[in-house]
Amino acid sequence: MDYAITAATTTVNDLLAAAGASAEGLKAVWISYPTATFVTPDHFGETIEVGDGTLRTYDDKSCMADALLAVVNELRMATECTCTFGHEGGYQIATILTDICSKKGKPGDLALMRDLAPVMTSQAICGEGRAIGRAVSQALDAFGPEIEGHITKKVCVAGACKAFQTYHILVSKCTGCGKCLKACDDDAILGKPKFVHVIVQKNCVQCNKCLEACPEGAVVTAGATKPKTPPKPIPVRRKK
Ligand code: SF4
Ligand code: SF4
Repeated sequence: MDYAITAATTTVNDLLAAAGASAEGLKAVWISYPTATFVTPDHFGETIEVGDGTLRTYDDKSCMADALLAVVNELRMATECTCTFGHEGGYQIATILTDICSKKGKPGDLALMRDLAPVMTSQAICGEGRAIGRAVSQALDAFGPEIEGHITKKVCVAGACKAFQTYHILVSKCTGCGKCLKACDDDAILGKPKFVHVIVQKNCVQCNKCLEACPEGAVVTAGATKPKTPPKPIPVRRKK
């Protein structure tokens, strides 16, 4: 969620209160350029100087790899500077983060960003380039394990990155109508009339068609925590 803020000496708690937002459940906020900083809850009460801009909030459904990618891309688009460290560095960071969020991250990606970020912070000519360096270092310090989990555990704990989502059919809701099976073009659903349908994860391409087709809300997506579902179709249990 984005909230407009005006320049002031203030705290994140005061900014949230002024915006009518709650600090409860937040894992971080981003204050946009020219402030350009991530703030975690343990620092929400500290006094900071902020410029005009926006304050963005993140909760447990927010992926911080995706959040960092959005921030980096916004900063890249805000400048026409073509300096090597700001322009090229920003491109490299955005490419790495895009791969991480698309399940194509590689071992060593975080180390590469950790090496590049401080050089951008000290060497970029444009303020946006330096801000990218700072933002990357801050995010890796605060959320390194969450971001790295995309690579090492193949998990987006927030369940936000589409490439890491899995689709499931809930036994408690499925009526065995077959509409999801008809909608799936990838042979990723097993089932027959009056049987709870089952998604074959290895065939699923996360197209979302089954979820849109199901009239019962029985198809759900999951991130790190998956619902328990049968390995093969079983007779419908749901009572109408
Ligand atoms: S998300 Fe798409 S590919 Fe996956 S089971 Fe549903 S319809 Fe099939
Ligand atoms: S998941 Fe939905 S669309 Fe598919 S069989 Fe069950 S109720 Fe019908």
